[in-house]
Amino acid sequence: MRLVDVGGRLVELHIRRSKRVHGHRLYIRQGLPPELVVRPRASDTYIDDAIAMHLSWLERQLASVAEPCLGLERLRLTEQQGRREAQARISLIAQSEAAALGVSYTRLTLRDQRSRWGSCSSKGALSFNWRLVLAPHDVLDYVVVHEVCHLAEHHHGPDFWRLVERRRFAYRDSKNWLDAHGWEMLAYRPPLEAAA
Ligand SMILES: [Zn+2]
Repeated sequence: MRLVDVGGRLVELHIRRSKRVHGHRLYIRQGLPPELVVRPRASDTYIDDAIAMHLSWLERQLASVAEPCLGLERLRLTEQQGRREAQARISLIAQSEAAALGVSYTRLTLRDQRSRWGSCSSKGALSFNWRLVLAPHDVLDYVVVHEVCHLAEHHHGPDFWRLVERRRFAYRDSKNWLDAHGWEMLAYRPPLEAAA
């Protein structure tokens, strides 16, 4: 870790060494410190030069990265509690939505995917990210309805989106919320289970 002055703001830069990088690479991911990847034996001078070379780029990138605003870091929800809650709410919506559309699914599972909110297999198995429980209800509801609609339309064509809109006319708001804040839910680190 290095503290770097980026346009007057002290930023922690994580240094990682890897054989798989040529020269160096700089990564910026939301919710994580920026990371500089260098060759295993890169010298301190090399690292300083690499940082200096990218300083203005780093400053522009950091200015455009959103700050967390949901306050999830104050939550004390464990993964076990979250999964239980998510399972109850998601199955309820999936059941009533499937009944309304006249479709059925083979099973419903919860996962801890790094980048997906839900999926629907060609065999009709639904899976959802338990972290949806951290979202406002309409967002969780939209993701479940989206996947249940895939049981009728297995694609993202116009027919699919018409069906989603018929079931949830304001779905775009939920979708936009997810695009803007989904990363905060993925970055949530639940506390370890309390000892019994
Ligand atoms: Zn989809």
